[in-house]
Amino acid sequence: MTNAQPLLDGRVVIVGAGVAGLSAALRLAPKPVVVLSKAPLAAEGSTIWAQGGVAAAMGYDDDPTFHEADTLAAGDGLCDPDIVARFTSGAPGAIRWLADHGARFDRDAQGRLALGLEAAHSRRRIVHAQGDGTGLEIMRALVAAVRRTPSIEVLEGAEARRLLVDDGRIVGVFARCGDADLTIATDSVVIATGGVGGLFETSTNPLGSFGQGLALAARAGARLIDLEFVQFHPTALDVPASPAPLVSEAVRGEGAILVDDLGERFMIDVPGRELAPRDVVARAIWRRRAEGRRVYLDARACLGAGFAKRFPAITAICAQWNIDPANGLIPVRPAEHYHMGGVQVDAFGRSSVEGLWACGEVACTGLHGANRLASNSLSEALVFAASVAESVAGAAGSRRPQKLRIAARPPADPRPVRPLLSAAAGVERHGELLREGIAALAPLAMSEGPAADPAAVALAICVAALHREESRGAHARSDFPNRAEPATRRGLTFDEALATARELNITPRKRTA
Ligand SMILES: Cc1cc2nc3c(=O)[nH]c(=O)nc-3n(C[C@H](O)[C@H](O)[C@H](O)COP(=O)(O)OP(=O)(O)OC[C@H]3O[C@@H](n4cnc5c(N)ncnc54)[C@H](O)[C@@H]3O)c2cc1C
Repeated sequence: MTNAQPLLDGRVVIVGAGVAGLSAALRLAPKPVVVLSKAPLAAEGSTIWAQGGVAAAMGYDDDPTFHEADTLAAGDGLCDPDIVARFTSGAPGAIRWLADHGARFDRDAQGRLALGLEAAHSRRRIVHAQGDGTGLEIMRALVAAVRRTPSIEVLEGAEARRLLVDDGRIVGVFARCGDADLTIATDSVVIATGGVGGLFETSTNPLGSFGQGLALAARAGARLIDLEFVQFHPTALDVPASPAPLVSEAVRGEGAILVDDLGERFMIDVPGRELAPRDVVARAIWRRRAEGRRVYLDARACLGAGFAKRFPAITAICAQWNIDPANGLIPVRPAEHYHMGGVQVDAFGRSSVEGLWACGEVACTGLHGANRLASNSLSEALVFAASVAESVAGAAGSRRPQKLRIAARPPADPRPVRPLLSAAAGVERHGELLREGIAALAPLAMSEGPAADPAAVALAICVAALHREESRGAHARSDFPNRAEPATRRGLTFDEALATARELNITPRKRTA
């Protein structure tokens, strides 16, 4: 693999091969790019697991302005309105682009897209494939298209471990590829590494999604923003499995109700009922469980025997645990699901570091605000991967590759971080717990050990959550239950997060993780 390096120098480097990374690579063609994917293509990442679908205003009764209004409402005052408008008007074109690249979406008898309904959407606008196999179908189509595209070199099994920066600009990427070190000289890097679920004890994300892209960008000096906004999905399957299998919101969209083990339908008096925004439903379930109750989805009346046809993948997962959604209740619990925050980027995915772009879940465009509207993430990745490609194509290739040297980096290990972050920054937070989390995470983040990067990301999430002294969207503080006005956003760097840890008088002890 090291022999391949001279051929790769000077190419645009895309780190991550989910919907965001592969779309950016295709949009950049015929410009030569190299995609680093730490796992074989379509073997890891959240995209393959996406069930519900892709949100886009494509129905006869829909319009991007309706989608815009729903996205702004879910974002609870913190969305960037220009980004939202750009996104909702671009989403239908992104669906057509995917279809042109071979994605086969579910259609009705007349050949029109079959559109699902999900929580807090005012219209049916969830484009899906194979019932609940949307992510798999998207990846099948994208991987096939990438394999057909000669300008895209994919290195499978290549894990990016550091970005190289000179004078505030990106000059290269250091990666581990199989059992060899690899350094690529480049002035253009796109981070597309997905979410942070692997930093939590209970998450629906693949365990490999533990914020490596955030660490790469932040260690290169990039600003991060909205980190405190972590979405907990209300209905992960309540079984002893990690990651927690997901029971898509689309099940509630089809009419399933939530009941506790006493049979009480506890969402009945809440506006929106079972289709209230995710944070509202997640907190209601979390509180019920804190009272010692178990919580279930009941799809018997709305779908019954039709459940397996509409939701074949969920049916198969349930069967592994002897759960029969057609005739019985489905036990559910909240689980970390999506990170609204990320690398702070503009409408073209540009970060605060020259030569560094980000798209997909790792990026924070300002689209989601304090809470993501269901199924907006796949479409966000598609829409903004196109903008990133436009920007990279206009900017890249201006510098000659340099000779680069960097000391080898150990593989990251998020395991010590999971209990600490989960205790501090779960469904409901409190200043005291956040301060305790920061105290425990700071020494790890300052160490040179394998937990350093995951701990630094977790520390930054806790610091952002501590700074936000209000409850808004997915960020609920039991010590600050109300919203603060006006709504504000505040970015931070790793150095600022560590400075906060020091100011709290919890100076990190010297210790190796
Ligand atoms: C169970 C589940 C269901 C979901 N359902 C939906 C849905 O129905 N609709 C919707 O809109 N959203 C859904 N989401 C969210 C959505 O799937 C993700 O936000 C989206 O797929 C993220 O895409 P991505 O390309 O940013 O990241 P991912 O698809 O996670 O891909 C990240 C890639 O980066 C690679 N990588 C990571 N670190 C490195 C590194 N250091 N070096 C090299 N490679 C690296 C990974 O191997 C992977 O290839 C769901 C998420 C989950 C977990």
